[in-house]
Amino acid sequence: MTATLIDGKAFAAKVRAEVGKHVATLKSEHGIVPGLAVVLVGEDPASQVYVRNKGQQTLEVGMASFEHKLDASTAEADLLALIKTLNADPKVHGILVQLPLPKHLNSDLVINSIDPAKDVDGFHISNVGLLGTGQKSMVPCTPLGCLMMLRDHHGSLAGLEAVVVGRSNIVGKPMAQLLLNDSCTVTIAHSRTKDLGEVCRRADILVAAVGRPEMITGEWVKPGATVIDVGINRIDRDGKTKLVGDVHFESAAKIAGAITPVPGGVGPMTIACLLANTLTACCRANGLPEPKGLTA
Ligand code: NDP
Repeated sequence: MTATLIDGKAFAAKVRAEVGKHVATLKSEHGIVPGLAVVLVGEDPASQVYVRNKGQQTLEVGMASFEHKLDASTAEADLLALIKTLNADPKVHGILVQLPLPKHLNSDLVINSIDPAKDVDGFHISNVGLLGTGQKSMVPCTPLGCLMMLRDHHGSLAGLEAVVVGRSNIVGKPMAQLLLNDSCTVTIAHSRTKDLGEVCRRADILVAAVGRPEMITGEWVKPGATVIDVGINRIDRDGKTKLVGDVHFESAAKIAGAITPVPGGVGPMTIACLLANTLTACCRANGLPEPKGLTA
């Protein structure tokens, strides 16, 4: 391996420590405790793990955590009523509805019922529009985490050629928007892109958010490029379940200048950025200055 390893686990610990410091100051100087409400509908095992981790880390940085676990058969009207209550609750500064929701619930309707100022996932249509027009918004956590790591590694991103593979609303599109806002020249690639390898080889910054295990190999990486691997894929190898990204790490690390591993790269940054967003939302709600370096 020749590439520098971008250690998301260590970076996330730094972000959490920074958030914790601000939370302590908010408490001691203003008597304010930032609060995050997480709503889980149903019993999807992966979602349960995510929600548990989020709750734990929220408490660890000194915030209040409010968990709402609802039955898989919860009626849409009841979920909307809960969100209305959380929107009005001054102790709650951030609201996250764990996705995916059971099929009978309309995710768009539910997400858009969250007060945009408390939408710490950044999925509300108002926040999407604000980000798209370069205005102050709540920024989706995973792309925000990627951006923080890229800024830390490169300093300015201006003028760099960035290729984002994947165009989902939760990762690919907001990632591309953030890179554009930081003055990269951005290409978004997807399943219909022709000559994907050729497109990827143009990238100084290559972000993979595809959901296909180890699809991007070293041959697609420009020498010296920074590779951010968002993918989380479980595969069976040698009779064991293994977590791999969308990038073939061994081959890409020989060509790239810097690379994030899976696990231990983007993943830990996502929850750290959720906490950062909750802190930001709390500061904005109370008319206090936002912490520097924790927002886009
Ligand atoms: P989606 O399935 O919503 O989107 C995948 C995107 O990849 C689509 O735009 C799709 O294109 C594109 N794609 C699929 N196959 C190909 C292909 N062969 N060539 C080029 N593009 C392709 O996934 P998400 O964006 O939600 O997630 C992407 C990955 O990131 C997943 O592995 C997920 O688990 C992971 N993830 C990790 C997070 C973290 O915290 N680290 C958080 C969120 C996601 P098209 O639109 O044309 O279908």
